[in-house]
Amino acid sequence: MSLHVINIIQLFEDWAPNWVAWEKDNVGLQVGDKQNKITKILITLDVTKQIVSEAISKKVELIVSHHPLLFRPPSAIIVNDPIGELVLQLAEHKIALFSAHTNLDFAQGGVSFALAEILGLKNIRFLTPLKNSLAKIVVFVPDGHVERVRNAMTQAGAGIIGNYSSCSFVAKGTGSFYGSKASNPFLGKHRNFEFVEETRLEMIVPRALVSGVVAALKDVHPYEEPAYDIYFVENSNPNFGMGALGTLPKSQSLELFLKSIKRTLNVVALRYTGSLAHKIQTVAVCGGAGSDLLPDAIAEKADAFITADVRYHTFQKASHSIALIDAGHWETEQIILKPIAARLRSAARAAHEPLTVFITKYKTNPIKII
Ligand SMILES: [Zn+2]
Repeated sequence: MSLHVINIIQLFEDWAPNWVAWEKDNVGLQVGDKQNKITKILITLDVTKQIVSEAISKKVELIVSHHPLLFRPPSAIIVNDPIGELVLQLAEHKIALFSAHTNLDFAQGGVSFALAEILGLKNIRFLTPLKNSLAKIVVFVPDGHVERVRNAMTQAGAGIIGNYSSCSFVAKGTGSFYGSKASNPFLGKHRNFEFVEETRLEMIVPRALVSGVVAALKDVHPYEEPAYDIYFVENSNPNFGMGALGTLPKSQSLELFLKSIKRTLNVVALRYTGSLAHKIQTVAVCGGAGSDLLPDAIAEKADAFITADVRYHTFQKASHSIALIDAGHWETEQIILKPIAARLRSAARAAHEPLTVFITKYKTNPIKII
């Protein structure tokens, strides 16, 4: 046995599944063969020329990046194109590339959670849970088959609510049908109006997984035509979300808090709005460009909101209600590299497989400050 690219894909699928990603994102395996064996991985925020050279010289078989190299589908993969050249180099050296982007932003223990943790926040939770992402599937099952159908739906990703899995609800009832001449009913006779005892089985499911769960239930359901309903529900998804919210163990002045952010994230300069004497305890964060979450941070009564790529008018809007801090895109995201490495190393240890995980030695931040 040995580790293959697919094992790393599976690890991310359990942690930050592809379906969670923003619909316009492009995440997952970008280059290479998922069956390739791996013994060395390089982790980076961005894939640049320098990073590909580093991967080649370290002889890694896989690069895991946060920002996808192939974000918009390129029209050609040619040497004279900056992206095409990197793809060709990776292919030539049989190096696979896997990217976990907004799916990692929206996961527990993802970018924003890691940022909250490194800044010393406690009681960390999502700033805003994922909305409009859940459905409910209701299926009518004859006696003796409920367990099998529930298991199949669970395996396909249904029934997860927070820290609970295999969640379902069942109620007994009576179904009716009239099968045509061509039918072959599992219970009762065709061309006869039948009443049968059935169980109504309901499970919550991410909308992105609905078709897979329906296929799984159909696979094990004994009926020719399983009856099922799909409802889109308005519940927010407690398992995934945007940004993170937490509290400092002790309140401190904004001035001290800014100093500690600079030290922890190793940033040269911070842009902020607010009064330096203002006391900070509840803190919202979002690694990378998270300005859209400003209203959520204010609604949660956060004293400060740390994110990046903040515009002038956003600072203006925030200035009377919250200390808004722009700590840099690269700086608020690079903190995820160590947690990724730790997960990969512990998965390899658990599988008793040799794996060397490198975090890139390069600072891929394109923004310079003097
Ligand atoms: Zn980013």
